[in-house]
Amino acid sequence: MFENLSERLSGVFDRLSKQGALSDEDVKTALREVRVALLEADVSLPVARDFVKAVQDKATGQTVTRSVTPGQQVVKIVHDELVHVLAGEGEPGELKIDNAPAPILMVGLQGSGKTTTTGKLAKRLTEKNGKRVLMASLDIYRPAAMEQLRVLGQQIGVDTLPIVPGENAVQIAKRAKQQATLGGYDVYMLDTAGRLQIAQTLMQEIEDVRDAVNPRETLLVVDGLTGQVAVEVAEEFDGKIGISGVVLTRMDGDGRGGAALSMRAVTGKPIKFVGLGEKMDALETFEPDRIAGRILGMGDIVALVEKAQDTIEAEQAERMMKRFQKGRFNMNDLKMQLEQMIKMGGMEGVMGMMPGMGKMSKQMQGAGIDDTVLKQQIALIQSMTKMERANPQILQASRKKRIAKGAGLEVSDLNKLLKMQRQMADMMKKMGKMGKGGMLKQAMS
Ligand code: GDP
Repeated sequence: MFENLSERLSGVFDRLSKQGALSDEDVKTALREVRVALLEADVSLPVARDFVKAVQDKATGQTVTRSVTPGQQVVKIVHDELVHVLAGEGEPGELKIDNAPAPILMVGLQGSGKTTTTGKLAKRLTEKNGKRVLMASLDIYRPAAMEQLRVLGQQIGVDTLPIVPGENAVQIAKRAKQQATLGGYDVYMLDTAGRLQIAQTLMQEIEDVRDAVNPRETLLVVDGLTGQVAVEVAEEFDGKIGISGVVLTRMDGDGRGGAALSMRAVTGKPIKFVGLGEKMDALETFEPDRIAGRILGMGDIVALVEKAQDTIEAEQAERMMKRFQKGRFNMNDLKMQLEQMIKMGGMEGVMGMMPGMGKMSKQMQGAGIDDTVLKQQIALIQSMTKMERANPQILQASRKKRIAKGAGLEVSDLNKLLKMQRQMADMMKKMGKMGKGGMLKQAMS
């Protein structure tokens, strides 16, 4: 399921995760594609629009500080928003079935999979929840439908209410209630009649049944392949009957996953279960997290985020390696190193990882270099111009003064930084000569 949407979105995020820092424009472009993808997945226009807007609102204002986070941020925000839209209140698959016998009203169009789902759910309640279930068909218009439920019941070992010809739907419902009470059943499920389209007379009949038994759950069964139609059906049923949840069937097909998203967004009703085949155990609880992951085409969002991070960091390291091999190590490199050091647990952590750097480490500690100093050094580099960072050798007295002042520090602090940069450059040169995959790479990974 969800192939179309997942492919589209994967494309968008593949591109994102390859980039460094994202501009507002990048986010906008990506979200435009997310919107198109959603529309193609049969998500309704207003829902897609709201969704993208929500993502954008959340994305803007989140400053992108490290080059590895933009893709991660957008992916995560989109994912979280999908989960947010898809998730209903309460646990997925949770049904209110206390106060035995609890009536569950099953409603939906003919052919949606209502009878099949009634059987699946009865089986589940029996086997997983240890409930005694009674099923009754209220489809007085189609004797074959009544027979279908009876056969299903036999097949899964769930009792069905004996068929009495000539009764109307409300009479059958009342008889089911009576038998459920007398027979000590925990749950009784009423499989109402369906039509190919919404019909007012049928709606009235279902309302009457509802009023007669006061169902604990009214579950709408809709064909997940019908996209927008499913959403319209849900609105209609909810307006007339009042539904407590939705079961999306045929989610095993290559349907467009948009139905799930629109359904939840438009009706506000939780999707409780999804039907994943014709077999009696092909019913699963609806997991927003999993569906969101599938919509995004990323089984495990965290893994993807990590992969994206790794790629970017590896690329960064690779680029630095190449520079070092050429003996280049300017203030930009130093700044990156300093930031990396803070991230990796400060000076000691980094030095401990770099064989042959024990002496340097002691020197630095001797000079009182700790994380505060690291941050001050970053501030000094930040107050340099682009040209100065790339060519620190051009720093003369007046430039030094300006830089130190900009960082709120002394020129002597800047001199220490410059010395360190020269030492590092020397060292990097030596290490660079040891070749790729040497200790630097180890230390940085
Ligand atoms: P009803 O008229 O709404 O009661 O629909 P039925 O329960 O008779 O189902 C109609 C057809 O859809 C049957 O052939 C079912 O086997 C099939 N069906 C129901 N649910 C699913 C599902 O989740 N996946 C698939 N592939 N088929 C389903």
